[in-house]
Parts: sequence; structure tokens; C-alpha cells
Amino acid sequence: MAYEIESSFATRAIHVGEPIDQTNGAVEPSITLSTNFSTDPESVGFSADSLNAETPYFYARWSTPTVRALEEKLADLEGGEDALCFASGMSAITCLLLGTLQTGDHLLLSDVCYAGLAEFAHHTLPRYGIEVTTADFSDLEAVRNTIRSNTKIVWAETPANPILRLTDIQALHQIVQNTRAELVVDSTMATPFATRPLELGADYVVHSLTKYINGHGDALGGVVVGRQHKLAQLRQQTLVHHGGALSPFNAWLIRRGVHTLDLRMQRHEANALHVARWLEAHPAIRQVMYPGLPSHPQHDLARAQMRNFSGMLTFQTREEGAVVARRFYEKLKTITYAVSLGKQRSLVWYIPTKEIIASSFHLTGAALESYRAFAGDGIFRVSIGLESPVDICSDLEQALSA
Ligand SMILES: *Cc1c(COP(=O)(O)O)cnc(C)c1O
Repeated sequence: MAYEIESSFATRAIHVGEPIDQTNGAVEPSITLSTNFSTDPESVGFSADSLNAETPYFYARWSTPTVRALEEKLADLEGGEDALCFASGMSAITCLLLGTLQTGDHLLLSDVCYAGLAEFAHHTLPRYGIEVTTADFSDLEAVRNTIRSNTKIVWAETPANPILRLTDIQALHQIVQNTRAELVVDSTMATPFATRPLELGADYVVHSLTKYINGHGDALGGVVVGRQHKLAQLRQQTLVHHGGALSPFNAWLIRRGVHTLDLRMQRHEANALHVARWLEAHPAIRQVMYPGLPSHPQHDLARAQMRNFSGMLTFQTREEGAVVARRFYEKLKTITYAVSLGKQRSLVWYIPTKEIIASSFHLTGAALESYRAFAGDGIFRVSIGLESPVDICSDLEQALSA
């Protein structure tokens, strides 16, 4: 990366990839929307095979200056050699998997992870002859016993969406490093402000930029951060041909979101801690799960691995969840009943255990019991926003008791 000065996270989040424009003095960067670039006929050919560092811009599906600047910033914040952006988190995930795995390979996936990835892994990858098995990644012995000689990728997500179960990245790396597999960590819920998986031994870190990194709920995006030569291959072999390029306009919005990531995460955490404590003391609530609470079964790991506990929590109500969900949808005002997470507005979404197990996670027997023991039956996933925590609690109060 061009930026050599050792500086703090907040400073780098603002400055990396965004020098003052040398042509016109603009302090904030302009968006380059052009889909094609004028190039020397000898420097680059028509095929993606001719991609080269000397001629980075050719056609916008390959790379654009605005997206490239965001990639430099994200690589820096994660402490990675390079980064590669995609049109969404799912595009980053599927391109990394399809660009790395081939027929006969085995993927070992956390049995709880982003539902879109779980469904892709269970339904699509086997059609290409890729074996997929899952394990409880909070139980590293289980992971060790599930790795095979053909395991090519071990895929962790911490905290795992939606139940906020953690994985010890460093301990997992100790296991994976003695195998032929590479370790991927989806760190969307933690953000680079809280956890830097590459420093703990991961080979790749993946984010949905749609969530905390953009932080304002108005742009989809995804990123893979890792070694430079691996990402160059991934750009050439998957991004260019699968076509999920990040729009420069979204990249521009996301880089603006990154400027306040540090401030926002501190406020998300403070708000979430306030609401989590309030919920824990509320008679209508059966259980609260927040990595920042001492009652979280992995609170010690959270303290060791997360510099910030982020803004996600889950709870269970004593009353039937589906009934409360209906009332939340009708009565909540500060909080919005909607999916997604990591934005300025607080969001809540009800996840019935039976449905997510059947549609996404495909858990049976002991694995299902362990999911139920951790998460309970039917959880409300809350993305605590940046509003006043007092207002968030009074909104919950009026909707819980209505
Ligand atoms: C949302 C999410 C994704 C998918 O990202 P999109 O930008 O919605 O495609 C992947 N992983 C996690 C943990 C997520 O929360």
C-alpha cells in the first residue's frame, strides 16, 4: 500500500486511498463512473488473462479508480496485503468459494453462519462435486475431527449471524495450519475496528460492506482481504467473469461510511450494552445474548478477541415469539421491524428456530440440540442503531407491554 506512515485506525480510516486530487485540488475524491478506459494497445489485450498491474483500468468490471481506492483502504484497516471488492457480501463469498474450490474438494463450514452462505453451500456447491460438511465452530475438537485430507477451506464466522456464537480464531488457526486447508473468517459482525482475523492467522477475511462498514443502509457491497497474489487470481478468474463488480457509486458511499466506523462502533457498543442490560432485567424477557455481557457463554473469548463488542444482540421473550413479532411490526416506532444490520437505525427481526433450521442450516440430532441449547427457540435479532439508548428502551417497553 502507498500509505507507509504508522498511524491510528481512525486516521487511516479517513486518509488511506484518498489523497488530495492532484489535478484540481479537490479535497474529497470525485467518483469515476466511466465503464471503459483509454489504454495503450500494447499494454493490455481483450482477455482477462492480460490483466496487469501497469494498466489497472481497462473495463469497469475489472477495476475502477473509485473501487480501487476503497480496496486500498480496506486492506489497510484489516492489515492485509490487498483487498478485492464485489457487488455484495454474497458475491464476495461465492466468488471466493468458486474461485478456490473444485470438484472433489471439501468445504468445512460453521453450522451457524449467514443464511445465504448456508443455503449456497448446501444447495449449490454439491452440484459441482464439492463436498460440504458443517461443525459447531465453538467446539474446536469437533472442527479438528471433521477436517479431511481433501478439506480445502475452513470457513468461520464470528460472531455468527444470527445467534452471536463466537469462534476462537487463533485456536482455529492452530488446527488449520497443520492441514492443506485455508482459513476464511467472515468478520462482518465484528468489523476491523473490533477484530483483525488476518493477524490471528486467517488466510482471508470477508465482509458484507452493506452492514457496519458502510453503516448507513444505503449501499450493497462485499470484500475479500488477503494475500496479493491470491486476490489477483481471484480478480482475473472470478470477479471479471462472474461479473459481480462493485458500482463506483456504492464504493464512494461506502468509503464515506468508513470515515466514521470507529466513532459509530463505539456508539453501537455503548447503546447495545445499555439495551442488553435493560432487557436482561425485564420480566418479559427470557434470555439475552450479547458478547459484551458477562452472561454470554463466551464472554471471556469476546473480551480477548474483540476490541469492541459491536451492536448486535438477540433475545427471547416469555410470550410466544410470533405474537410479539406481530406486535413489534405494528407498534415499534424508533426501532424498525426489518432485516439487515449495522446501520444508524435500530432494526429487529424475529427468527423462528424451526424455520431457519429447515431452510438454511439443515441441523439434526446433536447439532440441532446444541443450536437450541445456545440460541433457544425463536430469537429476536436486534441491530442496535445510533439513536438514544433511552429511546430504544422506551420503544421496546411500549411494544413489549402493549
Ligand atoms: C449480510 C451478511 C452477508 C451477505 O452480505 P450481502 O451484502 O447482503 O450480500 C454475509 N455475511 C454476513 C455475516 C452478513 O451479515
